[in-house]
Amino acid sequence: MTEPLLHLQTAAAGRASEGTIASMTDHLALEASVGSYPAQAEAAPVLERAYRDLAGLLGVDEDGVALVGSATDALRTLLMTWPLPNGAAVGVVPAEWGPNVDAFIHHDLRPVLMDVDDRGVLDLDALQRTLRSSPPDVLHLTHLASHRCVSQPVVEAIALCRSAGVTVWVDAAQSLGHLDTAFGADAAYAPGRKWLAGPRGLGILAVRASARDQLTPFRTRTDADLSTIEALRKGERPVAAQVGLAHAVREHVQAGPSERRAALAAAGARLRQVMRDVPGWAVADPLDAVGAIVGLRPTDGQDVEAVQRRLARDHRILVTACLPWRSAEISEPLLRLAPAAALTADEMGCLTSGLG
Ligand SMILES: *Cc1c(COP(=O)(O)O)cnc(C)c1O
Repeated sequence: MTEPLLHLQTAAAGRASEGTIASMTDHLALEASVGSYPAQAEAAPVLERAYRDLAGLLGVDEDGVALVGSATDALRTLLMTWPLPNGAAVGVVPAEWGPNVDAFIHHDLRPVLMDVDDRGVLDLDALQRTLRSSPPDVLHLTHLASHRCVSQPVVEAIALCRSAGVTVWVDAAQSLGHLDTAFGADAAYAPGRKWLAGPRGLGILAVRASARDQLTPFRTRTDADLSTIEALRKGERPVAAQVGLAHAVREHVQAGPSERRAALAAAGARLRQVMRDVPGWAVADPLDAVGAIVGLRPTDGQDVEAVQRRLARDHRILVTACLPWRSAEISEPLLRLAPAAALTADEMGCLTSGLG
């Protein structure tokens, strides 16, 4: 008999529910039976509902959300459509998702490091001084880091930047469906597959009403009168996957986002507590970390990638080896655990014996 899968990779891709999977296979069957475009028309109310749900989760109006291909695709869309001066300065913290910094450089923007405290959290007093003396054109914050459980004070940063007239973009890849993301940033984005447990291949882009009209997405001549968001939503999309994401988001909203947040925070706290007593590993999260990402530093020189492979092969435990490309904050790999809220004591026992 095979052991059950212990899935601790929600931060890479959450495990879809049976209902989410069925919603997608049902839509594919509908496409075959009535035709893809009529099926898409039937699914339109489901997608409208998803836009409203996602808008609520991200704190924008319902015309502020588009589904794109991934979080990376959403950032690329912002970089191509937002009117920024050449060489614009983008404020980031060291815990920023590394590939985002590469994307800024590729688009001729200039990443500028903002001050952080000893937890790696943006220093709001220093931000206030920077906003007075040499404000960046955009502040870009990765709300919750990918490699360990360090989160940024997005609400406070938005308030400070808004009064200074500085744009704030938020990478909510690890926080949408996990932390409170209703902060109404000028723009925010996330994939659908991580904490919302939607299918792969979709990203969510939210743009605040006051910023939308400045954006210049591609429109064909016949589409000249489309609104920004209509232009961003337009184009060939995997409709079955969109229906699946809509279903996953509905489940999330019906379960209660704040209950989900509390349950994930509790799972993270339980896991950190247990890991503190496991020899050979040190918890890399701040002491006040909130969330179900647990970053572990090897203290006996273990090869993190080899540990990850061994756990998968010998114990069917899925974890992630976070290599330094993920963030300028780390120079050595971390082992990342990202459980679902239902993480049990038995499962933690399997993990600790697998690590031993
Ligand atoms: C996963 C992740 C991304 C990239 O998401 P994709 O959908 O794979 O493009 C960006 N930022 C953070 C913080 C992530 O964890």
